[in-house]
Amino acid sequence: MRIREIRELAVPLSGDVANAVVNFAEHTVSLVAVVSDQEYQGKPVYGLAFNSIGRFAQSGLLRERFIPRLLAAEPETLIARNRDGLDPGAVVTAAMRNEKPGGHGDRAGAVAALELAVWDLNAKLNTLPACEFIAAHFGREPERDGTPVYAAGGYYYAEDSLEKLAEEMQQYTASGYTAVKMKIGGAALETDLKRIEAALSVLGDPARLAVDANARFNLREACRWADALAGFHLRWFEEPCDPLDYHTLSQVVATYPGVIATGENLFSAMDAENLLRFGQLRPGLDLLQMDPGLMYGLGEFARMLEHLETLGFERRQCVPHGGHMINLHIVTGLGLGGCEAYPGVFQPFGGYAPECQVRAGRVYPSAASGFGLEQKRELQPYLDQLVGDLL
Ligand code: MG
Repeated sequence: MRIREIRELAVPLSGDVANAVVNFAEHTVSLVAVVSDQEYQGKPVYGLAFNSIGRFAQSGLLRERFIPRLLAAEPETLIARNRDGLDPGAVVTAAMRNEKPGGHGDRAGAVAALELAVWDLNAKLNTLPACEFIAAHFGREPERDGTPVYAAGGYYYAEDSLEKLAEEMQQYTASGYTAVKMKIGGAALETDLKRIEAALSVLGDPARLAVDANARFNLREACRWADALAGFHLRWFEEPCDPLDYHTLSQVVATYPGVIATGENLFSAMDAENLLRFGQLRPGLDLLQMDPGLMYGLGEFARMLEHLETLGFERRQCVPHGGHMINLHIVTGLGLGGCEAYPGVFQPFGGYAPECQVRAGRVYPSAASGFGLEQKRELQPYLDQLVGDLL
């Protein structure tokens, strides 16, 4: 088999929402299709994926460097050794020809979009949901009883109020979510403490509410907020400081008795290893949020899991950033600790297709082949643009 064509479309994210650092109104995502020469029921089989959410579309990097290199590669070198579709590792190697090590940045997401599209393609060639294909590939049983899920929301809106926040929390619980995350650090401490109390007035148990500072704080602020949050006994305190500031992180970990979560802005297995070696995170307690869609894809993520287990951490401590269909299948296939969902934000990518059920805090992928992106109604107009002529 061979790659016939690779397509990319920059898709705007909908929603004027903000965390402590970023407003997403101008954000875009690269939706890619890797079209194979294989056919199913007379139609070409293609793999679909995107570079997660929150780092902009990478049209330039994809079109100028990674897609041409892949198309120029000798087709035989990209085929899996067991002839089971394309080899995602070989695809990354071909895309990364003549790239220096380190740095990572936006290219890690661009390459991830291509690599993940290959997983979608392979699963479709085997007519399996991606979670089952991934589990089998790594010699595991997929989770049959769903995966723990939490709703990520509680953003800062242009028109905001405590009532609106409480209403949003109410909607999540009514939709089957038992755990929720909200943003902090975008307002004064006193204001955010009121927001937390408003959310808890709906959720009740503080173990159902996580908070995310989106890397907003310096050492002094992070410790001040950690002190203020400690008494709440929340589910976790996410990204208190810069993703690479292991000194500040270790100070927060030393003073905060609850769970710390971080890692979504690390884009390689080596970066993650440095976090685990020098961030003082606690095996068995803290959470790791590295996102395959931002770190060269599933192959690099799987290498990171191996390192993490070598260092005494558990895969159950991994709750990847990115509340969308791709990570749902990866979390389910690899038996990770849980999955994020964006039920109300970041359309057309956020949240799950209606065929994926959310019940009592767990999510169940549908039986569609691949990542099931074709079932995501909001994506349909963009899929029509990208691959409509192939359907
Ligand atoms: Mg976060």
